[in-house]
Amino acid sequence: MSNKITIVNGKLNVPSNPIIPFIEGDGVGPEIWQSAKAIFDHAVEKAYQGSRKVEWKEVLAGEKSFNINSSWLPDETMNAFKDYLIGIKGPLTTPVGGGIRSLNVALRQELDLYVCLRPVRWFKGVESPIKAPEKVNMTIFRENTEDIYAGIEWQQGTPEAKKFYQFIAQEMGVKKVRFPETSSFGVKPVSIEGSERLIRAAIEYAIVHRLPSVTLVHKGNIMKFTEGGFKQWGYELAEREFASNVFTMQQFDKLKKEQGVLVAKEALNSAKAAGKIIIKDVICDAFLQNTLLKPEEYSVIATLNLNGDYVSDQLAAMVGGIGIAPGANINYLTGHAIFEATHGTAPDIAGQDMANPSSLLLSGVMMFDYLGWFEVGKLITDALETLFQKGEATVDLARFMSNGHELKTSQFTQAIISHL
Ligand code: NAD
Repeated sequence: MSNKITIVNGKLNVPSNPIIPFIEGDGVGPEIWQSAKAIFDHAVEKAYQGSRKVEWKEVLAGEKSFNINSSWLPDETMNAFKDYLIGIKGPLTTPVGGGIRSLNVALRQELDLYVCLRPVRWFKGVESPIKAPEKVNMTIFRENTEDIYAGIEWQQGTPEAKKFYQFIAQEMGVKKVRFPETSSFGVKPVSIEGSERLIRAAIEYAIVHRLPSVTLVHKGNIMKFTEGGFKQWGYELAEREFASNVFTMQQFDKLKKEQGVLVAKEALNSAKAAGKIIIKDVICDAFLQNTLLKPEEYSVIATLNLNGDYVSDQLAAMVGGIGIAPGANINYLTGHAIFEATHGTAPDIAGQDMANPSSLLLSGVMMFDYLGWFEVGKLITDALETLFQKGEATVDLARFMSNGHELKTSQFTQAIISHL
């Protein structure tokens, strides 16, 4: 039997000994990878007693790859991710100069990984800047291929900027550019297909995980056709494709207008009682404020690229998890997914046995959940929870804990393994 993970009719086929490529990463990458791999292997063994096991396959990228074969991202690495569908990676140094794209961006674009998935939850014991971090439990679906990631810009003062201005002024009748001579310009594409596949993935995730709502976060009050389009297409998609699973706030507004607020409220309440997912929308600035004031109102978030950037970092900071937040980039249609630590290479602490492996570890938990090996992730998160509650953590977290007890990376790894 093949050890390759495949996808058939949109469903992953996971053998009991899947080959999973990994990129160790630069800087603290090798330390946190060694830690995470040891924990993954122990957790899989514990969960399935030998009936399942991952065959890790190292592939190169970043500085390590450049030093060995003068390429930051060899074709073999790209091909391995294409072939084996699912991979995991540590942080990579972004090459400076020389016109080399960010390696992460290259991987995302080549594999068309259109969802940047960021779950945000609080671990008891971890210091948070907000009063009730336990109320924060959200999963962010950030669009990964359009909006500013596909943004086109022209620098002020260049012939291109001038030409662009002439075009919009003379041919499109645009009159509102205040300082045309010194303006840079930017254009961003947002499409129906791109928005729909992202929002569809978010709604399907909410259905599978039995979550109460999906919120479309946008800035459609100002950018009506891009951000506003995202919202509108999202509502239409939800009502068209998920009619039996969802109730939308657009339906609520329509009922309210036609039959009054009481009827609309009754419909909303009975949808909730029937376990339907509520699809709502909120303008991004209000959303950021609301996440601080009433985070319990939000569950799954679907948003475009730039908003998603701000939202991911604020939410991670709210649970004290900016250094431990995990992430994944996924194409749910082809099955391709890369799970990753979200922090950088931390060159200031590399090689000192003090890096926190939790971000990579939790991205591994996401990976095992994606494979359907839920028992593995549960063992790991339970162990992490127990340790954090006891104040046992690497220095970056332990120093803020009232009962903090600093552990080296290697000690933390052993502690997790013994708590599995
Ligand atoms: P960074 O995340 O590497 O470091 C910021 C701070 O966080 C540092 O003080 C660092 O010590 C600390 N930190 C980061 N990870 C930690 C961990 N696991 N445990 C304990 N402390 C940790 O960000 P930076 O310094 O801006 O970037 C360094 C390099 O990483 C750059 O080359 C950058 O391009 C790259 N980078 C890569 C990724 C990625 O591959 N996903 C993401 C961000 C930055």
